[in-house]
Amino acid sequence: MSKKFKNKTCAYCSTPNSATTGDHVFAREFFDEKHRHNLPKIPPCENCNNEKSKLEHYLTTVLPFGSQTKNAEINLRYNVSKRLKRNNKLDRSLASSMEYRWVEKDGILARQMTLPFDGKKYHDLFALIARGLVVHHWNLHLPLDYDFMAITTAKGGEEFFERNLSLNATKLTSVSLGDGMFQYKGMQSFDDPNKSTWKFIIAGGTQVLGDNGLLSSVVYAISEKKSFIEDIRSHIR
Ligand SMILES: [Zn+2]
Repeated sequence: MSKKFKNKTCAYCSTPNSATTGDHVFAREFFDEKHRHNLPKIPPCENCNNEKSKLEHYLTTVLPFGSQTKNAEINLRYNVSKRLKRNNKLDRSLASSMEYRWVEKDGILARQMTLPFDGKKYHDLFALIARGLVVHHWNLHLPLDYDFMAITTAKGGEEFFERNLSLNATKLTSVSLGDGMFQYKGMQSFDDPNKSTWKFIIAGGTQVLGDNGLLSSVVYAISEKKSFIEDIRSHIR
């Protein structure tokens, strides 16, 4: 057990003295083996660590990360866009909840699209990742009336987040991990240190379908007052 993190405040739920171990903000399984060193680590309590592990397990199973990335990208661009063209009646709600699986056919891995992909789990994980990064980079635990949410935007929706990222910031963080596997930028608001905006760019195959059927490997996350986040949620549902 890592003493460095024991009894620290949980990075995910902000409960004091609750951490039992260290957690990789980005699960090691998301990276090629040669890129698994020196990844950001933070203290989680046991409960948060377990909940996050479940999300990571789900996503490392259904999404192609690490060594599969390069093939995944080629496969995805080719096969999925072709399928979408053929099936223009594809329901928008289904489009945003697709699942991809790897199937082996004649010794070659190929992607297969099935339903449903749980987009909520994808967003929930990135909300936790952003929360962990705020602790890791800025040593900041959000007050309980603040929350994180993550979103993959439809075409045009990214303007809100990009505008946030270009505003006056108290802190700016920009990192590339695992030879570009994950790139992220974080901006701490000048007006309120608990408000932040994050942008994640995931290399290659980790792409999910946005509302308009376009593929996106960009995820945005924000920390805001809970009431504000509830308001956004009520607008996108
Ligand atoms: Zn916790």
